[in-house]
Amino acid sequence: MSIKVKVGDIFIGGGAPVSVQTMSVIRPKEVKKAVAEARALKSLGCDILRYAVLDEEDARSFSAIKKEVGLPLVADIHYDYKLALLSIEGGADKIRINPGNIGGEKNVRFVAEALKERGIPVRVGANAGSLKKEFEEKYGRTEVALAESALKQVSILEKYGVNNVVVSVKSSDVSLMVKAYEYIAQKTDYPLHLGVTEAGTKLSGTVKNAIGIGSLLLKGIGDTIRVSLSAPIEEEVRAGREILSALGLKKGVKIVACPTCGRCMWDCMKFAEKTEEFTKNIDRDVKIAVMGCAVNGVGEGKDADLGIAGAGNGECVIFRNGRILKKVSEKDAEREFFGEIERCCRI
Ligand code: SF4
Repeated sequence: MSIKVKVGDIFIGGGAPVSVQTMSVIRPKEVKKAVAEARALKSLGCDILRYAVLDEEDARSFSAIKKEVGLPLVADIHYDYKLALLSIEGGADKIRINPGNIGGEKNVRFVAEALKERGIPVRVGANAGSLKKEFEEKYGRTEVALAESALKQVSILEKYGVNNVVVSVKSSDVSLMVKAYEYIAQKTDYPLHLGVTEAGTKLSGTVKNAIGIGSLLLKGIGDTIRVSLSAPIEEEVRAGREILSALGLKKGVKIVACPTCGRCMWDCMKFAEKTEEFTKNIDRDVKIAVMGCAVNGVGEGKDADLGIAGAGNGECVIFRNGRILKKVSEKDAEREFFGEIERCCRI
């Protein structure tokens, strides 16, 4: 099991629930916008939110955001160690930086002292897209190059007494990413931040991340995840939550919807989407089935806590654990079924 690292008021690793992260396109200095976004993301299931820090004002704005919304915040810094120091001072709960890129060991020592003083963790790692030449020359473009490059970053911090570390080895190539995490999981006890980077648009990116992140989590590898998508930020959080939910790692409503076939009696796909929207913020472990026909759907959905199926003639049946509770008209289906969901989830 990985060691446990504290980020704000949550833990990463050491058996803590796998957390969902995302990264904002808003600058932290746009405090009002950042707060509104952070609140919305938190309600969708985001556990940790990261910001790119590009100037001093960004670095000093973390406390102002945190005062308004209780979400652990990460400062993502490239090259400039002073921005790391200011972000730590400014209230960031975690830093993303690579010690090999901040201008020498003197600067690493400054950052290390600030991290230790405040007890703040740091994420370091390697990205296949920006792999350092020395590792590529030694190991080729392989999982070993990626993992050894990340471990080098870790060792620089350890030299200055920092052991509050999270590690990532990202790639846009799913197979390479999986192999790199498998390799590094053998070599370190630090918690791992999983993700397929530059994964693509909503559909292709979600598929790649679900395969990469999902296959690692199934093997017990990984402690926090970010689904990188070229899509609105909410989609990253939704996808992350869905991956965890599909693996039984997060509480939440699971919707089972049939693919429909020639027996389908109503617009079950549209109703499934509405049900998904209605239940997106419910954090109870409840399984809900939305099926095309009562003939097969009630039986096929019998392991669901609650279900609905088209019954023909403008009617639907609502069922629980395979037993029909009532018949309702399609026009009342939403009100009746969502009412049952509320009762079932006690909300
Ligand atoms: S539940 Fe009915 S409509 Fe849906 S796939 Fe099965 S048989 Fe077809």
